[in-house]
Amino acid sequence: MDSRTLLLLEDDDATAGFLADNLTADGFRVVTASGAGEGWRALELRHPALLLLDLGLADGSGLELLDRLRAADGVASRVDPALPVIVVSGRASDVDRVRGLARGADDYLPKPFSYPELVARIRAVLRRADGRSRRGAIRVGDLALDPLTRKVSLASQPLSLSAKEFSLLQKLASDPTRVFLKADLLREVWGFQVPGATRTLDAHACRLRRKLAGSARPFVITVRGVGYRLTEEL
Ligand code: CA
Repeated sequence: MDSRTLLLLEDDDATAGFLADNLTADGFRVVTASGAGEGWRALELRHPALLLLDLGLADGSGLELLDRLRAADGVASRVDPALPVIVVSGRASDVDRVRGLARGADDYLPKPFSYPELVARIRAVLRRADGRSRRGAIRVGDLALDPLTRKVSLASQPLSLSAKEFSLLQKLASDPTRVFLKADLLREVWGFQVPGATRTLDAHACRLRRKLAGSARPFVITVRGVGYRLTEEL
């Protein structure tokens, strides 16, 4: 039984009540909020393990809250920018799904959803987050990297990467199928965001892709106009 706290940000009372009742019955602690402002305060005060986010909120867009969350520095705001987020939304088109994921959601479930599927996805996202926070070696297909020794291998053959190439790879591998925005990669790997800096990022991504080209799996995939993801679904 997983007794971690979930923040449920949902402005539809019937949906919120149904989810809160059932998730509580399944052992989670559930904190609810019905608007973006109230949701942000709950993020700061309650430190949930996962956010279930409705996109259409009365006092602001859920996507804007997601942007604000991912841009948090994790210190001043006391909100964890890496908090796992599952978007649960009535906007069910592929475009909306891609947009939600590109903006940093860990998963996206269109309404109407099946409750057992939602619970399975919550557990899967929490498990993935646990794996990330252990800071152990990361393995994606035949690629392996060890954050402690900074060693990287592909099909058991050691690879030589520059410090920035390693940092970029580590960031992408922290969530292998997530699309990372260029601005986020620049900020987190280089610590800055200036006009023209995307060329630096693109050059590093290109070199990294060449070095990983020996795998059957495509690595360092360009998502045009958005950013990069390490690989396709496993
Ligand atoms: Ca809504």
